[in-house]
Amino acid sequence: MSIQLEHVTYTYGQGTPFEKTALHDVNLTIHEGEFVGIIGHTGSGKSTLVQHLNGLLHPTSGTVTVNGVDLVGKTETVKQTRHKVGMVFQYPEHQLFEETIAKDIAFGPKNLGFDEAEVDRRVREAMQFVGLDYDTYTERSPFHLSGGQMRRVAIAGVIALDPDYLILDEPSAGLDPFGREEIFGEIVKLHKEKGITVILVSHNMEDISRMANRLIVMHQGQVLLDGNPIEIFHNDREQLQSAGVDVPPLSQTLQALAERNIPVNIDRVHVHEAVADIYEYLKEVHHAK
Ligand code: ADP
Repeated sequence: MSIQLEHVTYTYGQGTPFEKTALHDVNLTIHEGEFVGIIGHTGSGKSTLVQHLNGLLHPTSGTVTVNGVDLVGKTETVKQTRHKVGMVFQYPEHQLFEETIAKDIAFGPKNLGFDEAEVDRRVREAMQFVGLDYDTYTERSPFHLSGGQMRRVAIAGVIALDPDYLILDEPSAGLDPFGREEIFGEIVKLHKEKGITVILVSHNMEDISRMANRLIVMHQGQVLLDGNPIEIFHNDREQLQSAGVDVPPLSQTLQALAERNIPVNIDRVHVHEAVADIYEYLKEVHHAK
């Protein structure tokens, strides 16, 4: 099970004066179970890339297959396969429209033709998963919720489709730190507990380094770097800079300390762990005096 892109090139407005090639010969395989972070400067092709993964865009040349099925075409198999890839757009709460939360979450599974009992089961499960109590929230309007809660309803609507792959484009944009932690907590839970393959587009390297086990750096419509985030931070700093992407501040700090022969673990991705390391080191230095 995987999503595979072979020689994918995509040109907007082909044959017009506004022609713009946004992807150039992209080759990529996303395997089941991965947590992939996609990062890159504005205009590097991230959105264009992810819209190919569920067939919203078709390549100008090349192929995209999901679990072996080419997404071009309108057969029942293609339709079902596209539903295996859930997409949470930027500001997904703008797409809420039903008068109650339950109806909004039920919209997708209903459209897929499931009977009432199955739709209800999926709505309950999705709400429980994103931490919205069914009895409290089901009849409420989604428009009276906080920003973070509205986003949870939107994500629940995608989870209710039971996707194998979940693509999220800047899921924490515009949320306060508490809302961000909530959303990221849920995404990590979906990956760990439901085994969903996650593809997260973010401009925040710190967020990606904490969660993703694979990092893809886009630059000028191509994959510039692809690998383990920590290894990329260590080995490819110059290339990251050329792509206009920063190594996370924590990683930068730890590398600078290591270069001064201070024994820190440069693989730390959580600030509190790095602080504990430094504290231990300082204690030892103090005792040695
Ligand atoms: P990112 O998501 O990394 O910001 P995009 O995929 O949105 O990058 O854009 C890649 C390139 O394609 C940019 O040069 C952008 O201007 C161009 N582009 C994006 N959408 C369109 C469109 N609808 N029409 C024409 N050009 C577009």
